[in-house]
Amino acid sequence: MRQFVRRLLPVLALSVLARAQTPEQKAARYLDSIRNQPSLLLAFLHDMPKGGDLHNHLDGALYAEDLIDFAASDNYCIDRTTSRLLAPPCDDCEHYTPKPAIRCAYDDHILYNQIIDAWSMRNWRAGEESGHDHFFATFDKFGLTSHNHVPEAIASVINRAAKEHVQYIEFMHTGDGRAAAQLGLKLGWDDDFGKMREKFLSGGLKDIAAATSKALTEDEARARTELKCGTPEAESGCSVTVRYLYQVLRGLPPEAVFSQIVLGFELASSDPHFVGLNLVMPEDWYVPIHDFNQHMAMLDYLHGVYPKIHITLHAGEIAMGLVKPEDLSFHIRASVERGHAERIGHGVDVMLEKDPVGLMKEMAARNVLVEINLTSNDQILGISGDEHPLPIYMKYGVPVAISTDDEGVARSDMTHEYLRAVESYHLSYTVLKRMTRQSVEHSFLPGQSLWAETKAVFRPVAACAADKTGTGKPSAGCTKFLAANERAREQWKLEAVFVEFEKKY
Ligand SMILES: [Zn+2]
Repeated sequence: MRQFVRRLLPVLALSVLARAQTPEQKAARYLDSIRNQPSLLLAFLHDMPKGGDLHNHLDGALYAEDLIDFAASDNYCIDRTTSRLLAPPCDDCEHYTPKPAIRCAYDDHILYNQIIDAWSMRNWRAGEESGHDHFFATFDKFGLTSHNHVPEAIASVINRAAKEHVQYIEFMHTGDGRAAAQLGLKLGWDDDFGKMREKFLSGGLKDIAAATSKALTEDEARARTELKCGTPEAESGCSVTVRYLYQVLRGLPPEAVFSQIVLGFELASSDPHFVGLNLVMPEDWYVPIHDFNQHMAMLDYLHGVYPKIHITLHAGEIAMGLVKPEDLSFHIRASVERGHAERIGHGVDVMLEKDPVGLMKEMAARNVLVEINLTSNDQILGISGDEHPLPIYMKYGVPVAISTDDEGVARSDMTHEYLRAVESYHLSYTVLKRMTRQSVEHSFLPGQSLWAETKAVFRPVAACAADKTGTGKPSAGCTKFLAANERAREQWKLEAVFVEFEKKY
């Protein structure tokens, strides 16, 4: 008998230990147990709640197959040599005509494959054309059609997001179809930013803002109709919360950039779809490098006019050799200090900034989040693994969240971004969950956070302190708080899906 008890004791001890573990600890233990089995890891990460995708260009999120369908419905032609879309009339589908209708590709797998490779990073190999150039060239090749299909684009991307448990997206979108840039070029530069803003607003920018809001409201409604939202056949994308960042094209002349930035601030002030703005286009191109300080001055001035509007900026999407060393030394700090960015997209070259550790401490103190785009950084800059600063940001307490950037062009999705992060940096479940929570915490959704503290632990605000976060019906006080604060509501939703997810382990 004594021997039997002796044998049983370790088993009992183990089961007590197992029972003492929280569901989160069990999920963490499971991840550690499958860490070296990529297939099981992929399945785990696919099912894991992923909060928000804070860095997602609507254009770049589209897979080339969908873009070909859009272009075929527009009756566009394709340049057989460059794979660039052209306006009709098109040649017939005979082999090797120079300008066939794009629908010819449906019966010509060589042409079909050529277009997909040209419109994405599929099958790209380092050679004469750099990854950087191939990546950015895709947008000009398919741009003619992507702008015509915003509702289908939204529907396609949010359906994919929902299936991999992304619950919130901030799409970067140039919703005015470059109208603001054209207005800026027409009305011209003025050294006095105040006067220039007045001139643009009274010269047509207010109308452009109204037209952009109207168009996006219609596009959103058509996307929701396409997904049959609000009906019993509703597709999964209907559950995704969507907001927009007005996407300023910073490679244009300064008066066009200023006009777009003003439009971004105006939209985010008047239209709840838009929660902020971002400056896009390759940071290393001539104009973004040459005009960088002027763009920061514009943001600095306009932030003073619209202090409540959120700003996130692409900064540090450059690397040694791509630009002059001097240009690697200040973009991130300037974007935070003078551009008033609450979030930084990429931040890859941070270690080449002046006083990088001081900068990261400043970012941590200011609570500036870095949007981490691992696949994109690898494909465009050739930076991955130990060369990427993700672990250093975490070491200095800078909040980070994983995002997709251009999942269609990159042939990636959020699950594979999580996979790359776990595999490259040996991240634990707890660390990954922290990033996921940070993605909603640092979203530009209106209202207060569910969390009073997010540094060491996540501690709920007083109104929800007595609640078991994410479980059951919130208390009366917490219900009232959630009703008044959309961001907190999205965070409660995330906690609820985490509870369900962790139950499985
Ligand atoms: Zn980007």
